Amino acid sequence: MSQKIKTAIAGSLPKPAWLAEPEKLWAPWHLSGETLEQAKFDAMRLAVDDQLRAGITVIGDGEQTRQHFVTTFIESLSGVDFVNRKTVRIRNRYDADVPVVVDRVMRPKSVFVEDAKRLRALTKGPIKFTLPGPMTMVDTLFDDYYKSREKLALAFAELLNQEARELAAAGVDIIQFDEPAFNVFFDEVKDWGVKTLEVAAAGLPCKTAVHICYGYGIEANIKWKNALGEEWRQYEHVFPLLAASKIDQVSLECINSRVPMELIELLRGKDVLVGAIDVANNQIETPEQVANVLREATKYADIKHIYGCTNCGLVPLGRAVATAKLQALAAGADLLSKEMGLS
Ligand code: ZN
Repeated sequence: MSQKIKTAIAGSLPKPAWLAEPEKLWAPWHLSGETLEQAKFDAMRLAVDDQLRAGITVIGDGEQTRQHFVTTFIESLSGVDFVNRKTVRIRNRYDADVPVVVDRVMRPKSVFVEDAKRLRALTKGPIKFTLPGPMTMVDTLFDDYYKSREKLALAFAELLNQEARELAAAGVDIIQFDEPAFNVFFDEVKDWGVKTLEVAAAGLPCKTAVHICYGYGIEANIKWKNALGEEWRQYEHVFPLLAASKIDQVSLECINSRVPMELIELLRGKDVLVGAIDVANNQIETPEQVANVLREATKYADIKHIYGCTNCGLVPLGRAVATAKLQALAAGADLLSKEMGLS
């Protein structure tokens, strides 16, 4: 008999109100210095506890120590100027003030390894750690040095690989690279995106994953999604390339999106983290709704490769809503597992 369907979160969870302003993306910290560092780890314990109590299989840190899924990593690198920012268009959708690459990028010290060690100490089960993907990093900066998105991505990929090797050595079971940019720049994904992703993931002793979504429920993303038409087939460009890559798992957006489920057929043989929880509304999915999404996925992927997951990070939501959504995710996966006679 196969094992029951596993569950995981894409990455982030809401932060407690004493740590950062709730229900706000990229909210600044409320604390500073040593108090802040302690508070981040306290928040991580709560995030882990919420997942364990809900019955989630693969546990993450809820990204409680980061303000932003990309720039928090970049802040620890040298070669990037965070003071004199420039305005650029992100993912072809919205303008943001971003740091500027002014010199060769280097990673003078580990970024998340202490976080990973703490996470490892909080559970004996499988743990996942997220890092930004090289293309998404390039797309969240202004480059005044490399003058080539591909060259800068490759430089970042090498630094990510150093970091990922240390995370794996700290006991991380799955390292996931977040690449929402893969849903936008198809020519670049083909030319160098998957290649640089594989450089970031090269030689790791643990499983590797990539998360590709349609973004948080911010206005620019909602507008973009509304302009994408009846069927969202962006994954069709990317999945065949990932199927041929060494990446083990793909995390994608499904519920309430117009992504045809049949596209996951293109990932045969890979683990598929099927988004069955919407991160852009406050409605709590029922276990039946979650089970329905996962059941549909079983038509196109082997059950042993299917994980129930969230569409994206849960950070923009209230804590109570996010916790209830975690419970629905685990309950939905259990419901389908029982229906299919898995235990
Ligand atoms: Zn996402």
